[in-house]
Amino acid sequence: MNKKHFCPVCGFDGLGEAAFSSSNEPSHEICPCCGFEFGFDGGNEPAVFEKFRQRWIKNGSKWFMPNLNPKNWDKKNK
Ligand SMILES: [Zn+2]
Repeated sequence: MNKKHFCPVCGFDGLGEAAFSSSNEPSHEICPCCGFEFGFDGGNEPAVFEKFRQRWIKNGSKWFMPNLNPKNWDKKNK
C-alpha cells in the first residue's frame, strides 16, 4: 500500500497519489516540490513536464510548499 508516487516534473517521490492514473486521469494534486498541478498545468505529456521543469529550475528550483520539504530530500535535477 505504500507505493511511492513520483512527480513526473521534478522527481519528488512523496505524492499522495499517482499524478496520472492508468486511465490517464489527472490527480489534480499539486506537487509540494515544484508546484505542478496535474491536469491543471498540463496533461500527461513529457514535453509539458519538461517545459515546466525548465522554468522551475530557472526560478531556482524552489519548494512550492517549503513547510513540506523533507530534510533529507536531495534535488535530483541538480
Ligand atoms: Zn514536482
